[in-house]
Amino acid sequence: MNIAIMGAMPEEIAPLLERVGEYKLTEFAGNKYYEATYAGHNLVIAYSKIGKVFSTLTATTMLQHFGAELLLFSGVAGAINSKLKIGNLIAATKLCQHDLDITAFGHPHGFVPEGSVFIEADKALVAKAMLVAKDMDLELMEGTIATGDQFIADPVKNKWIGETFKADALEMEGASVACVCNAMNVPFFILRAISDAADMDASFSFDEFLESSAIESANFIIKMVESIE
Ligand code: SAH
Repeated sequence: MNIAIMGAMPEEIAPLLERVGEYKLTEFAGNKYYEATYAGHNLVIAYSKIGKVFSTLTATTMLQHFGAELLLFSGVAGAINSKLKIGNLIAATKLCQHDLDITAFGHPHGFVPEGSVFIEADKALVAKAMLVAKDMDLELMEGTIATGDQFIADPVKNKWIGETFKADALEMEGASVACVCNAMNVPFFILRAISDAADMDASFSFDEFLESSAIESANFIIKMVESIE
């Protein structure tokens, strides 16, 4: 199967590239794409750069240009749900854009006309992830991920996003990748390992735990690839 694995930052894909060994590098539209074979699959791996716009470009490229039939996202996130601690994993069951606001017209936060507030992730992939977690003896939370073009380091904003969208974690790329895959009918799975609590200390925590949390996420994604037939 042709599988895309994407992250937003170099640190998120470095552990993946290490695991796959040899790869072919292609540059396209300002990004680097790494093609490799692993566990009987053709992989295309890339980091998009941060935010919804760049992640949309990369996800679209992986599907349209590289022919990916399934997309896995590996990365880090800020926690909303207090059960999520640094290094813990969350698999998105649905995603939304917390910064999309046309409430002036009476729409709910995150709503897109002709679209919806939430995009659901692929249930079969989430179910598979739960089995992989059991196999690895790891806790994997299923939950809602809220995406926006802001690094959240503020308990008030964190609480607002949590209450408004009943979200468990927040980051800056998941919902845009979900939009692309949903529109193109390609199953996707968004995994995040917690790097910070999206609070006053978020930037320090992020810098300290980006690498270790990115590795947690990447290790899990590798096991997912191994479990896909
Ligand atoms: N340190 C980086 C910027 C990181 S932005 C630099 O200066 O270049 C944060 C990245 O991690 C995004 O890709 C986002 O998806 C994720 N993330 C982790 N914690 C987050 C938080 N508290 N708020 C928003 N995004 C967060």
